[in-house]
Amino acid sequence: MDQFIRKAYAKINIGLDVLRRRADGYHEVRMIMQTVDLCDDLLFEKMDKPGIELRTDCGELPVNGDNLICKAADLLMRERAVQEGVRITLTKRIPIAAGMAGGSSDAAATMHGLNELFQMGYSIAELQEMGVKLGADIPYCLVGGTMLSEGIGEILSPLPAPPACFLVVAKPDINVSTAFVYGNLHADTLTYHPDIDGMIEALRAHDLKGITDRLGNVLETVTVREYPVIEELKELLRDEGAENALMSGSGPTVFGIFTQWGMAHKAAEAVVRSGLARQVHVTTFHEC
Ligand code: ATP
Repeated sequence: MDQFIRKAYAKINIGLDVLRRRADGYHEVRMIMQTVDLCDDLLFEKMDKPGIELRTDCGELPVNGDNLICKAADLLMRERAVQEGVRITLTKRIPIAAGMAGGSSDAAATMHGLNELFQMGYSIAELQEMGVKLGADIPYCLVGGTMLSEGIGEILSPLPAPPACFLVVAKPDINVSTAFVYGNLHADTLTYHPDIDGMIEALRAHDLKGITDRLGNVLETVTVREYPVIEELKELLRDEGAENALMSGSGPTVFGIFTQWGMAHKAAEAVVRSGLARQVHVTTFHEC
């Protein structure tokens, strides 16, 4: 096929713990990753001239080599010395710099897309090994689903999916740099650690209350201090009926978990009315 569309799904973290800072500056993490239904679309088309051409409806993103899509495409095409070219058209829906791995997911979709378009024959494990050089979340994004992610994010163990429910995902109008959050985290002096093992047990038992009771993210210790709007959003979502709410990744996106669709929609409207966030989506967990 000379052209096709692939979806790049966003993720949330229902648990995020940082164990320590390694000598090389990376942090050793223990996170539970979950794909959600919110996604970008990437259209891949072969071009008869060589090169990588990126187009997007999103004015905030670069369309040159700084975009993770171009970096991923360049990596694969160089490796296999591809002589043809590719045009990639990105329809962006995942909030940017949000803690939802939008860029990593686009990069992962690009790796799958080019592997298929140019029949490169890479296995998923090979793509993961190449992808981690571009971003620690890319190995996960190449497979998605519910995963325990350890190491710097490259050691992945599949987990059972949580029970079906509805999510309100809200990004306040601030951009939080992942580097700032990790740079200001004092991993060695953290007094609180989320109960990741308990969360794994709750997932295995299909116990939604066990899961929502254990939502936890150590990166909130940095972001909430800097941006109190994150805590305000969590409180609003809980007041509107969320079983619980948490910041995803390095933030600032907050998600609330709801058992009822109607309640989730009412909560999303309440968030918009409050002015605490403008980018608000109702979505669900996505099974891969
Ligand atoms: P993570 O959860 O992995 O930390 P994030 O959701 O916080 O990711 P991204 O949306 O992936 O953050 O964007 C981080 C930075 O990467 C942005 O500043 C953006 O300019 C840059 N970037 C490059 N390519 C992309 C892309 N295709 N989509 C989004 N951001 C991109």
